[in-house]
Amino acid sequence: MSSLTLRNLQKRFGRVEVIRGVDLDVADGEFVVFVGPSGCGKSTLLRMISGLEDVTDGELRIGDRVVNEVQPAKRGVAMVFQSYALYPHLNVRDNMGFGLKVRKVPGPERERRVAEAAALLKLDALLERFPRELSGGQRQRVAIGRAIVGHPDVFLFDEPLSNLDAELRVHMRSEIAALHKRLGNTMIYVTHDQVEAMTLADKIVVLRDGLVEQVGSPRELYERPDNIFVAQFIGSPK
Ligand code: ADP
Ligand code: MG
Repeated sequence: MSSLTLRNLQKRFGRVEVIRGVDLDVADGEFVVFVGPSGCGKSTLLRMISGLEDVTDGELRIGDRVVNEVQPAKRGVAMVFQSYALYPHLNVRDNMGFGLKVRKVPGPERERRVAEAAALLKLDALLERFPRELSGGQRQRVAIGRAIVGHPDVFLFDEPLSNLDAELRVHMRSEIAALHKRLGNTMIYVTHDQVEAMTLADKIVVLRDGLVEQVGSPRELYERPDNIFVAQFIGSPK
């Protein structure tokens, strides 16, 4: 389990400032949702936290460790993407176990963790199937399973449900809520779906143009948006 601290976090691509000084405190076990217009820097922030992008300036702490320079595999975070990025030539079992194999986790321990994740995500019956033999929802479950087996302290979700149809999205949303309850991990979740944000979040972070516009509980943001920009994002009456 881990808290997360961002202090004046910045990211430049060349001369373009994409993240312009973000401060944020995420408590251990908190479910935080990032919302904001396309291009405001949500994915970049997640990628910095996971270590897929390096930090240009500022400080990034996970628990009590400054992780700016820590390699991705050693940060205790796992990321789930919008495109499931499963290995097409590996079955569900091997897709979920792949990262553990790379990290040289011994076979029996790998089996145990895959079985545990499969049970949690109701994938037990699908372990021998290949990605092409799965529905969209099942694929997304495998992608989540692949993140779970690493026993991360922090889960990062980047619009994980946007490729699913509306009905499945509602279903997966409650599965993710249940998973969070069960595992108690810290979660950072990016979505452009208002309902998803309002129902899942302990805390919503509204981002705009590389900066935090407002942070608060769904209720606080709904009832007391700082401005019209936030109101529009949260869907509160203007
Ligand atoms: P969001 O996820 O909120 O839609 P992104 O974090 O993907 O936004 O992108 C934020 C901004 O950073 C965009 O203007 C995007 O074009 C830019 N950007 C993202 N990645 C790169 C990159 N590797 N090189 C240059 N610009 C990038
Ligand atoms: Mg994005």
